[in-house]
Amino acid sequence: GSTLEIKDLHVEIEGKQILKGVNLTINGGEFHAVMGPNGTGKSTLASAVMGHPKYEITGGSIHLDGKDVLEMEVDERAQAGLFLAMQYPSEISGVTNSDFLRSSINARREEGDEINLMKFIKEMDGNMDELEMDKNMAQRYLNEGFSGGEKKRNEILQLMMLKPAIAILDEIDSGLDIDALKVVSKGINKMRDEAFGCLIITHYQRLLDYITPDKVHVMMQGRVVKSGGPELAKRLEEEGYDWIKQELGIED
Ligand code: ADP
Ligand code: MG
Ligand code: MG
Repeated sequence: GSTLEIKDLHVEIEGKQILKGVNLTINGGEFHAVMGPNGTGKSTLASAVMGHPKYEITGGSIHLDGKDVLEMEVDERAQAGLFLAMQYPSEISGVTNSDFLRSSINARREEGDEINLMKFIKEMDGNMDELEMDKNMAQRYLNEGFSGGEKKRNEILQLMMLKPAIAILDEIDSGLDIDALKVVSKGINKMRDEAFGCLIITHYQRLLDYITPDKVHVMMQGRVVKSGGPELAKRLEEEGYDWIKQELGIED
């Protein structure tokens, strides 16, 4: 499996320091959860790893299997095996979901080694069944008019089709009803493999009832301030974040 290594990462947005030294290592075969109050920089971390231009890296490093991710363009990061499911996926008019998926898969393959169309369709159909998605979703324009739940299922469809080395899922559970949450979790759990590592960003413990993380990290004020096992998420659900603030002497 691959290794994503984030060291002492500092990130600014419009001159404001948001991440103040994040350390996190994710290996293939591992599921990590990042939790934390709103506004602590969880989405900033995801965007910085994927190379969003608005986020300025002012210190630290990100390496994927020893390769400097910060030196890569956004598309190079995807080609290297990174995948980001965004909190708010964007709409792309004029590109069908199916075409988008196929060109994304082919972008990661050698020229002349494009995925066989029949194989692609079969795999997409199977995964869409798994995610209980309506078949016409394949031919609709990417995310256009998709409901919140459809967007999230579609992100997981992309994940299952692209089979990245490392994925970052930012609030993949937000706005999902319990049935959709179960389906999305089932899809993510199916990805469990030595060749796949995952960082699951979530505000709520609820998702972690369905996806058991190997490690749980708490982010506060731009840093990972505490790490533990699944029991840490349970305690946060029951007691909130105040006890950590007290433990660490953090002021609001
Ligand atoms: P979280 O995902 O943990 O809720 P975010 O990473 O979204 O936190 O936000 C962290 C901080 O950065 C917040 O104070 C937020 O207001 C600020 N921030 C995030 N994105 C932007 C942006 N595009 N422009 C300006 N400030 C931003
Ligand atoms: Mg937020
Ligand atoms: Mg966020």
